Amino acid sequence: MSNPSGNPADLSHKLRSLPSVDRVLSEPALSAALAQWPRPRVVDAVRAELDIARALLGNGTDAAFAPADLAESAGAALNQQLQPSLRRTINATGVVIHTNLGRAPVSDAAARAMSEAAAGYSNLEYDLDAGERGSRANHLEALLQALTGAEAGIAVNNNAAALYFAMAAHCAGREVIVSRGQAVEIGGGFRIPDVLRDAGATLVEVGTTNRTRAADYAAAETEHTAAILRVHSSNFRIVGFTEEPTLAELRQVADDAGIMLIDDIGSGCLLDTRQFGLAEEPRPQDSIEAGADLVLFSGDKLLGGPQAGLIIGNRDAVDPLRSHPLMRVLRLDKAAIAGLGATLQHYLLGEAVKTVPIWRMIAAEPEQLQERAAQWRSAVGAGDIEAAESAIGGGSLPAETRPTFVWALTHSHPTNAARLLRERGIPVIARVEHDRLILDPRTVLPGEDADLIAALQELLGAPA
Ligand SMILES: *Cc1c(COP(=O)(O)O)cnc(C)c1O
Repeated sequence: MSNPSGNPADLSHKLRSLPSVDRVLSEPALSAALAQWPRPRVVDAVRAELDIARALLGNGTDAAFAPADLAESAGAALNQQLQPSLRRTINATGVVIHTNLGRAPVSDAAARAMSEAAAGYSNLEYDLDAGERGSRANHLEALLQALTGAEAGIAVNNNAAALYFAMAAHCAGREVIVSRGQAVEIGGGFRIPDVLRDAGATLVEVGTTNRTRAADYAAAETEHTAAILRVHSSNFRIVGFTEEPTLAELRQVADDAGIMLIDDIGSGCLLDTRQFGLAEEPRPQDSIEAGADLVLFSGDKLLGGPQAGLIIGNRDAVDPLRSHPLMRVLRLDKAAIAGLGATLQHYLLGEAVKTVPIWRMIAAEPEQLQERAAQWRSAVGAGDIEAAESAIGGGSLPAETRPTFVWALTHSHPTNAARLLRERGIPVIARVEHDRLILDPRTVLPGEDADLIAALQELLGAPA
């Protein structure tokens, strides 16, 4: 056995002089942990620190391991386990639907509904009229009918699940016609061709990357065709010499061929985005009106609710899904059903721009944002207020932005500064551009200003 510190007798002396577990446990640094934790967990934490010390001594370290230091490290390791992995995070990036930061924050009413559903019993699968087993697939249907004009509607775990489900239930073993410009990757490795293959459907690509006509779809139809699938290209945009048929034109082709028309619109935007100076985003109600048999969209993009996938459309197309074995695999949980219900009600009441957080953020005017950024600046006493652009994000409205004002802070080590902001108990996520930290008030929720200001005061008060 080699021993880098040289003398084996010296090493064994050092190992023997490490304090006992009981000696470390008696340190004041662990009295709080012993009051909070079951004793065996604290003992394990101390043993783990002693193991580390032994390994370091074996590697020849000269460090001394005082009982107080070992106790402090064990206490810190225990505290670390109480820090939840998933934590509230302040989004100062200005990207409204930020997929890495959990997409849409839900409204107060939706959060309350989710918390109540989670904390108590509910009629999730219980028919209160009949006093017998009911179906969880029915809770959102009336709201979806009222908002979109669809005959029927169900919710599943997310929109990727909705697309997979529609393909597996209606198109397995048959062909699905997709425009070449729509055989896209949505993000996180979600590729339309792969989803179709895994669901057992055969992709038939038609047209070219930039131009596809109704006649291309009609020419591709065979006796094996199950459906035409239209997919919102989401996170990219083809500009210039482009052409795609309208949904009404595709309805005509589908009718002539006697096949289904399925529309994956992605973001589930129920409002007219042009009122905010943005490009028009396809809306579920427009796809239903244009005659799609099934329309698929996310719950947590421009709908502004919890994670979910909504499937609306003709009764003949939706009802078989309720009793399909995959319904059990892909079903939505009760908290999300409750949160979606509360979110959809905001739209029914015509109050979504005021109550749904993502719409409040998108609607915020530059002057309001300038004022807020100026308040941050004066509280911290540093940086500049500058005109900039906030992104919508989440594959919704690609390349579309809203004018904003950001707080820009020049810093000698901006990436270090951004890391320090991320490492806080309530992390603050800022953008780094060149030698500056950029914080956009658009996506910082009301009530988060004090935490954000405290974070920046500490960052700039501390030596760089
Ligand atoms: C985002 C998106 C999906 C995936 O939706 P999730 O809710 O993230 O599963 C599918 N299709 C389109 C067109 C999308 O934009």
